[in-house]
Amino acid sequence: MRMLLMGPPGAGKGTQAERITGYCKIPHIATGDIFREAIRGGTELGRRAKSYLDAGELVPDAITIEIVKERLRETDCMPGFLLDGFPRTVPQAEALDQLLIDLAMRLDLVLNIKIAPAILVERLTGRRICRQCGTSYHLVFNPPKQKGICDRCGGELYQRSDDTPETVGDRLRVYANKTAPLLEFYRQRGLLQEVDGEPGIDAVWEVIRGMLRSLDR
Ligand code: ADP
Ligand code: ADP
Ligand code: ZN
Repeated sequence: MRMLLMGPPGAGKGTQAERITGYCKIPHIATGDIFREAIRGGTELGRRAKSYLDAGELVPDAITIEIVKERLRETDCMPGFLLDGFPRTVPQAEALDQLLIDLAMRLDLVLNIKIAPAILVERLTGRRICRQCGTSYHLVFNPPKQKGICDRCGGELYQRSDDTPETVGDRLRVYANKTAPLLEFYRQRGLLQEVDGEPGIDAVWEVIRGMLRSLDR
């Protein structure tokens, strides 16, 4: 299974990606996670990306595309992969096309998680993430058993610095302007499927699992 997971910030991409990649046994490649990891590690990439993440802007295409090119060439991506949060611009989608041609690979599915913008602010401001394993929680919709502590690994939960009401507004605008147009790009190729992201986490997953099963991979 080679798939893209699309949807606005807070739609539930990371949450569902974890289930999808467990079910399909493929690597989860999230560009946002790669940037945050680089920032935490103080690498050159982190230094170049930080100001964009802080402002809720997109990291320049040249930087982002280079990272995905390197990652998809790793051997664990041979049987398949899930890209979460990439592509986010038309040039990124075009670069991905070319890369897949070079690798003699084809996409099987582009899954869009659809959701009304009004819900997203609450999703994002209530989001908490495990510092150790990256699992995403929500103060109200998906709380950990013990406050501030990851159920899976016991790690400390933190709030992303861009999950503030101010930055969330900017991210939603960037999504509408730069990323939403990509849906048409993939729809025209017959690759796009959509799922309603508004029901609870388990209900959304059931629908996605049904789709994956019917794709028979
Ligand atoms: P969310 O889960 O809220 O959709 P991500 O973790 O995917 O957010 O992305 C967080 C930030 O990382 C973005 O606001 C942007 O600054 C940067 N980023 C992630 N993916 C990309 C991309 N494909 N192109 C440019 N910037 C990106
Ligand atoms: P994205 O990767 O698209 O930005 P996340 O998967 O991180 O989104 O989800 C954003 C927040 O919303 C997290 O706090 C997550 O626990 C919560 N969440 C995800 N899916 C649902 C859902 N179906 N119902 C309610 N809350 C959800
Ligand atoms: Zn954890």
